[in-house]
Amino acid sequence: MANTYDAAALRRADAESILHPASVAADVAANGPAGIIASGRGSTVVDVDGTELLDAVGGLWCVNAGYGRQEIGDAMAKAAGELGYFHTFTGMSNPQQIQLAEKLMGLVPDTMGRVFFGSSGSDCNDTLMKIIWYVNYLRGTPEKRKILSRRQAYHGTTIATASLTGLASFHKGFGLPLPEVIHLTAPDYFRNATPGESEEQFSARLAAELDETIRREGPETVAAMFAEPIMGAGGVIAPPKGYFEAIQPVLKAHGVFLVADEVVCGYGRLGTWFGMDSYPIRPDMIATAKGLTSGYFPLSAGFVSHEIWETLRDGSATMGAFAHGFTYAGHPVGCAAALANLAIIEREGLVDQAADTGAYLHRCLNETLADHPHVGEIRGRGLLAAVQLVEDKAERRVFDSALKTAGKVSAATKARGVLVRPLPTVDSLAMSPPLVVTRAEVDRLVGALTAAIDEVTGSAA
Ligand code: PLP
Repeated sequence: MANTYDAAALRRADAESILHPASVAADVAANGPAGIIASGRGSTVVDVDGTELLDAVGGLWCVNAGYGRQEIGDAMAKAAGELGYFHTFTGMSNPQQIQLAEKLMGLVPDTMGRVFFGSSGSDCNDTLMKIIWYVNYLRGTPEKRKILSRRQAYHGTTIATASLTGLASFHKGFGLPLPEVIHLTAPDYFRNATPGESEEQFSARLAAELDETIRREGPETVAAMFAEPIMGAGGVIAPPKGYFEAIQPVLKAHGVFLVADEVVCGYGRLGTWFGMDSYPIRPDMIATAKGLTSGYFPLSAGFVSHEIWETLRDGSATMGAFAHGFTYAGHPVGCAAALANLAIIEREGLVDQAADTGAYLHRCLNETLADHPHVGEIRGRGLLAAVQLVEDKAERRVFDSALKTAGKVSAATKARGVLVRPLPTVDSLAMSPPLVVTRAEVDRLVGALTAAIDEVTGSAA
């Protein structure tokens, strides 16, 4: 996988021209980009200097079908060559978006009535938030607008979705969150359970907090709750036992919609098609993106229940057009990429493979790291995992954040040829490799991560 780029010239041009997302601007300006990835195959990427790296993160939790899939590229080239683009406003359509919609409606629960296409996880959640407000307006309850989210949640970075995101760094300096958004306790048993509290008791306490919050705010003002099945960027936090069973009756009792943010969990990540197939979640709306195209094209698909769809349809009588949408909604090239990607996932049985390799990953992580003096917890499910670093295992005390331990472990893992993602707010290392990752690659990942943790924390397991 050789390339012909001039690496030094690229580094210079990047440092002088790009404001990078979620990056320390001064660092990139002074030192150039952290890496320039030029090619990839399967679970391996190659940087512009020719260094191969096992990408145990799958880009940003999204390259489910793996890198370098010519079949997806060919499908995109065909759609681009035939048409390239046409809009989907004013009732216009294209064959690719129709075929994709048909395919997706067969994958999501039959409680869903329609799909809305966008370009990113953020615009998908933003759209669903607007639909919630619009539907309540149409129903004559426009004051029902408040949205519940959880601390440590990640739902995007637009003005509305950064507000839903429950990480302080996405609010500071931006004057966020919006006043409509209320954050609840994260379902993070490791951090938030009280001593001696069982998972079920913790879940019951969070359901009681939810009920009290809705009553305090006034149920007539609370519209919806957004929730990732497993929280991704907030720490790969799987719900404690009984969590979704406990919170959903509370939402139902107060007429509050549940939005499942499946942007990370969707399309096989947990070893099931969606997170809601791994946990008992019955949402009114679903947000998906990332794994929909394995990241090959920016595409999102948001789903609304029949009930919500019927309100929208009937609302046309008074409102006329549904005045929301994006230039690239239902983009034929993106929809072709998604169709090819889903065909690969189905043909190669990648959802079952993710369950199998995911179980192997968790077994290896547990066998190698569960007793490590500086590992407090191993979390996740399927091919989504995180290792929690701790200074003191017995007391569950994390390292001083100024030490940036997760960042150092990630750098030491990269030095061993493997990419894992540091989550500094929870001092954890996250993994979400392509679903095609092999057992041999999992062995390499766990070996590199363990050696890196030993090196940084200065102690052997
Ligand atoms: N929702 C979840 C659960 C995510 O993890 C992300 C991104 O990581 C988003 C939404 C936002 O997606 P995007 O970055 O495509 O806007």
